[in-house]
Amino acid sequence: MAVPAKASHLVKVGSIDELRQAVDFANDKALPILVLGQGSNTLFVNDFDGLVIVNRLLGIDASIEERTISLKVASGENWHQLVEYSLQHDWFGLENLALIPGLVGASPIQNIGAYGVELKDVLESVEYFDLGSQKIKQLTAEECQFGYRDSIFKHQLKDKVIITAVKLKLQQVAEINISYPALQNALAGIDQPTPHDMFNAVCELRQQKLPSPSEIPNLGSFFKNPIVDTETVAVLQKQFSDIPVYPFGKAHKLSAAWLIDQAGWKEKQLNGVKVYQKQALVLTNPEHQSGQIVYKAAQAIQADIFEKFGIALIIEPTVVS
Ligand code: NAP
Repeated sequence: MAVPAKASHLVKVGSIDELRQAVDFANDKALPILVLGQGSNTLFVNDFDGLVIVNRLLGIDASIEERTISLKVASGENWHQLVEYSLQHDWFGLENLALIPGLVGASPIQNIGAYGVELKDVLESVEYFDLGSQKIKQLTAEECQFGYRDSIFKHQLKDKVIITAVKLKLQQVAEINISYPALQNALAGIDQPTPHDMFNAVCELRQQKLPSPSEIPNLGSFFKNPIVDTETVAVLQKQFSDIPVYPFGKAHKLSAAWLIDQAGWKEKQLNGVKVYQKQALVLTNPEHQSGQIVYKAAQAIQADIFEKFGIALIIEPTVVS
């Protein structure tokens, strides 16, 4: 988000040994630890008085089976480069998740998702360094308690572990997922889209609609799409007949972007923090305002959406305050 912020201590770690040393250092000095990949989903509201560990754990191991591929990927690998790498080898399953910013280690934390595919659909297990026992441990996908942009790493294991690797199960025979209308439109001229077509279409769609963080500072979606019950949907539909509603198990998913747009926030700015003109779910910080100013703008949007729709928007990125 390009907010100015400082950490009292920072170290880059390229191996598990270096990670151990960094954790020992923080424990000796009683410093809180914050792990950062590329910082592409983190908002610093204040400076950080503690040790920032910058993840540089690298390496990809593939084991090829009859119809599948098991990939063990170190958490410091770049996510989009992993998507490209797997496609180059004709290992399928990640194509809908192209161009998501950040590193592999962040992917299980919020169970990254786009265009109808979520990390949990391809994940086998997560390996992590347990800060309590100082041991390397593993969780199966089921044990990760994945939900919508959610996992155990945001709850019971928050601040207790450092993810060191993920194991993914990819396919040699593609299973295409074009459930999202935007993708269907983009691929309308192609008879039988391949995963490579999907990848290209996803990249194009994202580039058209989302600002590149290196050009216009942003954290992607700033709010989660609200999950609501049938009663809430009925009340909203009486007032807003065109409100988009998507099925979500026994509940329903609303579009946070639609709510923000409908409330008149699209293209608006608050103290230099702008709601992106092509996607109201994205807040941008072109003037490099402070984290506090960005956070206050987000709170103003939350308050307005609550007043107009009775819906409490939840901030999606990690807020360091
Ligand atoms: P879009 O296609 O304009 O759709 C708007 C919203 O409606 C999305 O949030 C999506 O929910 C939901 N939606 C659309 N079609 C759906 C269907 N067939 N079934 C269920 N839900 C449906 O969205 P967009 O803004 O261009 O983003 C495209 C995809 O990339 C979305 O999946 C979005 O979540 C993902 N994305 C994520 C981030 C992030 O920072 N986390 C940033 C940009 C884009 P979902 O969000 O649940 O998919």
